[in-house]
Amino acid sequence: MRLSRYFLPVLKENPAEAQIVSHRFMLRAGMIKQQAAGIYSWLPLGLKVLRRVERIVHEEQGRAGHIPLLMPTLQTADLWRESGRYDDYGEEMLRITDRQKRELLYGPTNEEMITDIFRSSVSSYKDLPLTLYHIQWKFRDEMRPRFGVMRGREFLMKDGYNFDLDRDAALHAYNRHMVSYLRTYERMGLTAIPMRAASGPIGGDNTHEFLVLASTGESEVFYDSAVTDLKLGDRQVDYDDREEVAAICREFTSLYARTDETHDATAFEQVPEERRRVARGIEVGQIFYFGTKYSEAMGATVATADGRKVPVEMGSHGIGVSRLLGAIIEASHDDKGIIWPEGVTPFHAAIVNLKQGDSEADAACEAIYKGLQARGLDPLYDDRDARAGEKFATTDLIGLPWRITVGPRGLKTGVVELTSRRTGESEEMSPDAAIDRVAQIY
Ligand code: ATP
Ligand code: MG
Ligand code: MG
Ligand code: MG
Repeated sequence: MRLSRYFLPVLKENPAEAQIVSHRFMLRAGMIKQQAAGIYSWLPLGLKVLRRVERIVHEEQGRAGHIPLLMPTLQTADLWRESGRYDDYGEEMLRITDRQKRELLYGPTNEEMITDIFRSSVSSYKDLPLTLYHIQWKFRDEMRPRFGVMRGREFLMKDGYNFDLDRDAALHAYNRHMVSYLRTYERMGLTAIPMRAASGPIGGDNTHEFLVLASTGESEVFYDSAVTDLKLGDRQVDYDDREEVAAICREFTSLYARTDETHDATAFEQVPEERRRVARGIEVGQIFYFGTKYSEAMGATVATADGRKVPVEMGSHGIGVSRLLGAIIEASHDDKGIIWPEGVTPFHAAIVNLKQGDSEADAACEAIYKGLQARGLDPLYDDRDARAGEKFATTDLIGLPWRITVGPRGLKTGVVELTSRRTGESEEMSPDAAIDRVAQIY
């Protein structure tokens, strides 16, 4: 993309309404625009990152054997009456009436709808295990929408639902979700700690939340600092191997890590004092095992091998896709702007032309631009007729991890400069070497 033809409405001033750094930078970098309290347009740069985040989620769900589908945002009240949640859910649910006076709602989550899909086409144990998921907009009429996309009213969530024959199989699905989530967050450059949580309106007895540590997080968290050293790295996982998957979950959940809702002061005392941490965290996902709560209420049964009819065992598993953009920025920025981890960056590299209109500089930039594209990369070429300082400020603000700076002086000796956004370190090399280097990184 050439910046002169892109739509990147950056703001020079700090917007007064933004209280936290991620909200401020998302507005300043022209990623989002608020349309109403907690409701945002995703401008081109924001949409690009959102799509990259979604793609990682899809890839990791696919690896775990989970199947995508797409359910609508609007649901009928009747479905929610079957589970009893229509009245229980309260004011967070946005209720809508259509012209026929039928009661609808904008889905805050999809347990009822997925159970309805399941019961209308699955009736045998032979079709299990099954895990279906989608990435779809949700609406929750939050009391205090704030912090930009962090607590929106309309927000994008990945929600997945497992259907299994018995409790052990459902717990395996739970564990599979935990491992696939760990990998998902790691690929986004995040350390998200699974913490024992309280189940709330979904119900059930087994649940973990995933928290990214950040001083602006809304949850208070208590943990053993050793938990932040755990990494999946590039371990290969066989998601069908129950024991292997369970062992990874044990590894990531045996150290003390809880939110204020489940915190146990006596158990926390057992953690060596120098490793005890009290901090704040952002909830970026949650997994639940709730057994037959919905299948019993809604008549979702399957025939067993010995001819019995049993309610299917279920769980549900969510990732806050749009909230993740805020969480990533909270975890990765400096005073100049965002620093995107390579896994989610909107463009792979910036090309900054220090002297637009200089025929040699222009030609070198074009060659690098096309060269990166030929390697399958997506560069942003700052071809505006602007001062170098302004161009640097823009690429720093929007957080591209690599910048190739091209100017007449360097070109005299055949070099351009490759700069890391994270370390600020620069290295001179030939244009071809810069292309190679960036291509190797991705
Ligand atoms: P919170 O405690 O922050 O209100 P929740 O526990 O109500 O979240 P879940 O029902 O567990 O949310 O939904 C799954 C994920 O969706 C959450 O872990 C979070 O990342 C995301 N999410 C929930 N509410 C919002 C919101 N209002 N704006 C953005 N993301 C949200
Ligand atoms: Mg909530
Ligand atoms: Mg919560
Ligand atoms: Mg939750």
